[in-house]
Amino acid sequence: MRRGRLWSAKELVIAERHRVSDVNLELAGLLLDMAALAGNSQRGWGYKRAAKAVLRLEAHITPLVEANTFKGVPGIGPTTDRIARELIHDGRSDFVERAVREAGKDGEIAAIRGLRRHFLSRAAVHEIVGRGGGLSRAKYRGDFQMHSVWSDGSETLESIADACLARGHRCAGMTDHSYGLSIAGGMSMEQAAQQHAAIDALNAAHKGRFRMFKGIEANIRSDGTVDMEPDELRQFEFVVASPHSLLRKTIDQTARMAGAVSQPGVCILGHPQGRRFNVRPGVRANWDRVFEIAARRQVAIEIDGSWDRQDVHYELAARALEHGCLFALDSDAHSHPELDFIDIAIAHATLAGIPQERIINYWTEARFLKWARGAWDR
Ligand SMILES: [Zn+2]
Repeated sequence: MRRGRLWSAKELVIAERHRVSDVNLELAGLLLDMAALAGNSQRGWGYKRAAKAVLRLEAHITPLVEANTFKGVPGIGPTTDRIARELIHDGRSDFVERAVREAGKDGEIAAIRGLRRHFLSRAAVHEIVGRGGGLSRAKYRGDFQMHSVWSDGSETLESIADACLARGHRCAGMTDHSYGLSIAGGMSMEQAAQQHAAIDALNAAHKGRFRMFKGIEANIRSDGTVDMEPDELRQFEFVVASPHSLLRKTIDQTARMAGAVSQPGVCILGHPQGRRFNVRPGVRANWDRVFEIAARRQVAIEIDGSWDRQDVHYELAARALEHGCLFALDSDAHSHPELDFIDIAIAHATLAGIPQERIINYWTEARFLKWARGAWDR
């Protein structure tokens, strides 16, 4: 079994350059450690609620704690305040470390800590996107992964178009699930044809003011093929391929992911790892190998902005950039508020130093379509 390789000196430099200080994320992590120790009890739920409250904050906690106003935030109790003080003053919490030791759960806690690496809290995203010099929010033209009522999303095409327009977007790529993922309400090809007629009508009604692209989120099978036939894939303007299974396995899945980015017609590798915050690590693979192939075939690596995915994260994105990859910064929204997840993707891409030129969401309609069609010939 492959255990993942050691990092080269060069990669360590990248890691150091991108080290992010995110005290809110660290505090939420400590609270989730306490929740794991408390298990399914009232105290456990209290810690989880507090962790969520911290992750949702738009500002860093340090000034709040120092001004003694942190305790006034809904969901924050005296124990959380105490842990926060220890974290700010000592860079760690003796209270939490002692609880872990006394419970004899060092191994279990170390494992879940590994499931929270390279995520960003809302406050960190806010700071990175707001500080200027990074990627422009204003020039971002449209989002290329989202779900509607045609699969497992909760909004109609028309209302999604309105929500995108309200955010200043000029286009959107609709990517409901394919029929292979029936658990997520995947569309049959017949339904896809009906959806395409609806998208044509929507585009005609917007008279060039907004353009919805016909996409699909196909599912990557364990052998690296996607769960649709080539003549079916050709009916869409672009194809996102993403992993939705084998996301908790420690086996090496390089061949699967390399296969996915080698499939004719695949334009975007969606949420490449399939990781979930505090829940699962996702696919383990030699990503350098996958990125190398993706770069050669011009398959865009997605930075999925869903707050509990953040996939790929800034450090992997920086490695993909070194290989010459293109990127897609998407929300993977299933409802209107989730369209704002693009800020999380923009923050990761900014940290990774990705230039706007390499990101498909900034391209013109003509350039996007030419590139997407080219996925059949590269
Ligand atoms: Zn997906």
